[in-house]
Amino acid sequence: MLSFFETVNVYFEKAAALTEYPRGLLDQIKLPNAVYAIQFPVRTAKGYEVFQGWRVQHSHHRVPVKGGIRYAPTVDEDEIKALAALMTYKCAIVDVPFGGAKGGVQIDTKQYSAEDLEKITRRYAAELIKKNFMGPGVDVPAPDYGTGPREMAWIADTYGAFYPNAVDQLACVTGKPVTQGGIRGRVEATGRGVYYGLREACDDAKDMKRIGLDRGLDGKRVVVQGLGNVGYYTALFCQEAGCVVVALAERDGAIYRPEGLNVDAVARHQKTTGSILNFPGAKNITPTRRALELECDILIPAALENQIIAENAPRIQAKILAEAANGPTTADAEKILLDRGVLIIPDVYLNAGGVTVSYFEWIKNLSHVRFGRVGKRFEQAAHDRMVSAIEKATGRTFSEEERRRIARGADEIDLVNSGLEETMIDAYQQIRELARRDSRITDLRTAAFLSALHKVATTYLELGIFP
Ligand code: NAD
Repeated sequence: MLSFFETVNVYFEKAAALTEYPRGLLDQIKLPNAVYAIQFPVRTAKGYEVFQGWRVQHSHHRVPVKGGIRYAPTVDEDEIKALAALMTYKCAIVDVPFGGAKGGVQIDTKQYSAEDLEKITRRYAAELIKKNFMGPGVDVPAPDYGTGPREMAWIADTYGAFYPNAVDQLACVTGKPVTQGGIRGRVEATGRGVYYGLREACDDAKDMKRIGLDRGLDGKRVVVQGLGNVGYYTALFCQEAGCVVVALAERDGAIYRPEGLNVDAVARHQKTTGSILNFPGAKNITPTRRALELECDILIPAALENQIIAENAPRIQAKILAEAANGPTTADAEKILLDRGVLIIPDVYLNAGGVTVSYFEWIKNLSHVRFGRVGKRFEQAAHDRMVSAIEKATGRTFSEEERRRIARGADEIDLVNSGLEETMIDAYQQIRELARRDSRITDLRTAAFLSALHKVATTYLELGIFP
């Protein structure tokens, strides 16, 4: 089996073959610009320990570079390179002006207390800061698998300890708690973006006809693998849009209920019992991987890479594969699915909601003002005057409730969600159009990679080479 980075490069080369760019430029885009591997010591409850970590800056065609930090026992250099490369292409696809990066620490977080994790996180951050692998203008990390707002707050505080006088210090990392310079809507942004992307894909009459489904999300049967940050919110937003979530899969097993599961009730059950298994009214499915093969319209892997491989691909029954996780499908599995006509909405586009809202957070931190703060009341007053004018012209009086609904200014969360929705719709249309214009492109991943490649190549060509 190809490694994760090799898989990403197979996809890259498939798109590159459709271009006329010189080989040197393609290599410059494809290869990581800088790979920083570190071993660092921490005194944990277990004693004196050495941890292995990485930060890969894949592309400096735009700075800062940006990408999450992953904590998992399986993290290795190849994985971080693959994820960093995906970040480059992802940012280009959704027109977020960053290069790609990714970081990781090889660690099983379940073995450590919050106190130990804080020490490990701060030391890892310090290692990056010392080598200029972190900073608002060079490299801005964010959460990924195994990390969240808590770790981002520790990282921001560590950076602040090194640069107490830096007025832009909060912009050194995104995904922070709202009370620490974070932005409303970031926690659920990736899942919300997956939902917007899926909604857009399912709204395409031609594509839906080809795969034999009705237009729209309403009533579509969905299976979600991974009930973490991305999976939970994706499942929730899909359910709110009328999808029937027939199965949810976690590490220790999956649950299935053809009439639909209530996502929040399952999450509560998981919290109280420690597992999603034995959810009232649902059937347990083990091993958990079997959930991927259940009958459904949309399969959403939202856990980790290499979940759909050549071995299980022939048994996947979904008509749409919505890649919420990074790299869930191997290249040979993809071929099997595409030959069978499955519509694959690729990770490199579909989970870009997180970095999009991270971009908004970075802007907020640099400008030191919450979105909506300056204009909200002005907008509200203008709408209010408009409602009064309509009342006067028509002789109809709006109720207090109607007036409140119409005459309101946008809050931060409204603007964040609106910007995210616009980004996901626009990028989907760019990719779809590219695929429709060029008959050599038969799948959305190739179109997405080609879209990214054109944008990164244009930037590099315009920049020239220093010296
Ligand atoms: P997370 O740690 O919050 O959740 C991952 C979940 O997957 C956990 O609940 C875990 O128990 C579960 N899981 C692990 N192995 C599993 C298995 N074999 N079967 C079923 N469930 C399993 O991580 P996350 O942030 O939700 O990230 C998930 C994926 O989405 C990763 O590929 C990540 O790179 C990608 N992603 C995350 C973000 C983000 O903003 N967090 C953005 C873009 C992409």
